[in-house]
Amino acid sequence: MNIILFHRDLRISDHQPLTAAADRGEVLPLYVFEPSEWEGSILSKRHYQFVVESLAELSKQLQQRNGQLFFAQDELEAVLGVLLETYESIHVFSHADSLVLDKVTKWVKQHTQTLTTYGLEPKKGSARGFKRVYETYMAQPLIPAPEEIHSPSHVPEILFTDLKKLKTMNSKGSKIRFGQQGGELQAVETLDTFLDQRYLSYMENLQNPLASSQSSSRLSAFIVWGNISVRTIFQKTTQKLDMIECDKERLQLEQFLSGLYTRVKICSLPQAEVTGDSKIERIWNDEWYLRWLEGKTGIPIIDASMRCLYKTGWLNFTLRGLVISFVSNILLLDSEKPSAKLAGLYLDYEPAIHDFYYQQISGLKGWPKIQNPVKLGRQLDPDGSFIRRYIPELDGISSKYIHEPWLYPGFYKLGYEAPMVDVIKAMKNARIQSKEMKNTTASREKKKGEAEQLSFDL
Ligand SMILES: Cc1cc2nc3c(=O)[nH]c(=O)nc-3n(C[C@H](O)[C@H](O)[C@H](O)COP(=O)(O)OP(=O)(O)OC[C@H]3O[C@@H](n4cnc5c(N)ncnc54)[C@H](O)[C@@H]3O)c2cc1C
Repeated sequence: MNIILFHRDLRISDHQPLTAAADRGEVLPLYVFEPSEWEGSILSKRHYQFVVESLAELSKQLQQRNGQLFFAQDELEAVLGVLLETYESIHVFSHADSLVLDKVTKWVKQHTQTLTTYGLEPKKGSARGFKRVYETYMAQPLIPAPEEIHSPSHVPEILFTDLKKLKTMNSKGSKIRFGQQGGELQAVETLDTFLDQRYLSYMENLQNPLASSQSSSRLSAFIVWGNISVRTIFQKTTQKLDMIECDKERLQLEQFLSGLYTRVKICSLPQAEVTGDSKIERIWNDEWYLRWLEGKTGIPIIDASMRCLYKTGWLNFTLRGLVISFVSNILLLDSEKPSAKLAGLYLDYEPAIHDFYYQQISGLKGWPKIQNPVKLGRQLDPDGSFIRRYIPELDGISSKYIHEPWLYPGFYKLGYEAPMVDVIKAMKNARIQSKEMKNTTASREKKKGEAEQLSFDL
């Protein structure tokens, strides 16, 4: 039996495993809800909700082609085992960058079954050669969705087609009420509205907390869960570029394409390149952690960002960096819990990208980025409209005080927290620590160099 294993590629367009398997005759399109992936893991209810929405649409699209999408709720190996018992031999079709590929490869080898993968392969080729591989892949024609899908009439009992039969999974966190909805149609519509108008102020608003939520593409969650392929986005964008003459307008889309490439590049890095050791001595303080998480630090730009993330599942690049810089380099909290919590809040959580930037900012890789949240807040949100949107306690105060409300004469009547740290002192402390660590590392490197030189002379 040909099995298309859907995971983070929940679409029918430009889906090579689906089209290739459908060309061979009978196919069983399958999505497995693994308890180990959803229960007690880093993923949360908001991810689950997005995936279920995406699957509902995918299921409809397959039905329109006379096919069926099947679901199972168990560990992948157990499901593959039952399928093998039922059909005697199985051939799994998957994307090469699937996060469950290692598992499937191992199982297929153990049971001498067949696995065929398609698409860009991560962690292959030198960094320099990767750009060429990427461009070649992006230029290849999109794979059309199959017109007909023949699904088997006989399937094992563990499979079902109605999402209502799904038993509740114990994921952490909460659903989003006003966030993006999953599905291929929403993804395509989001891309179309971006390329139609929204891209025009892409660069100008990139760092603006409120405006960027409109003028950025907002495709990240759709890309992460595979509602649209990067190649589709790339090709539609280059087609649009071909029609634009104005240099300023072209620049917006060129910058957008460069971000898209960054994404694919980071996801293709070997894991070893995104891990490192802390350059600052860290502490743990539950109360501080909760104040940061709940948006009650008393520093308006941090609190507005955390409350916005909780409500919408999205922040722009700069704010993502700022909330990490605050928890890691101002509060000096150990990274494990905050990093996992943020992962559960971002609807577009992609492990490789999240870890890459978390480690860069907190100093696990390179030196920590120590940012002044008050100063940066003033630059990013000069009139305080983002802060007022998410912190109603500060709604009535003027722009003069919005970034430092503790200086406002009537501050204690506002019902807003006093700042939990003196930002300037905390930054100084982090800089001293980071410098000390730098000096220690430098002298260690120097000694190592001397030792190496000595042994060479000998
Ligand atoms: C600490 C931190 C954590 C992040 N975690 C994630 C994550 O888990 N998932 C994720 O998709 N992005 C992550 N990013 C990158 C970036 O912030 C988001 O991709 C972007 O904000 C999503 O909004 P958009 O789709 O409107 O982006 P656009 O600016 O419209 O870009 C289009 C697409 O290109 C890709 N992209 C653009 N810029 C970058 C970049 N600098 N690095 C990587 N990809 C990029 C994304 O897939 C994005 O959807 C992180 C950034 C930081 C600083």
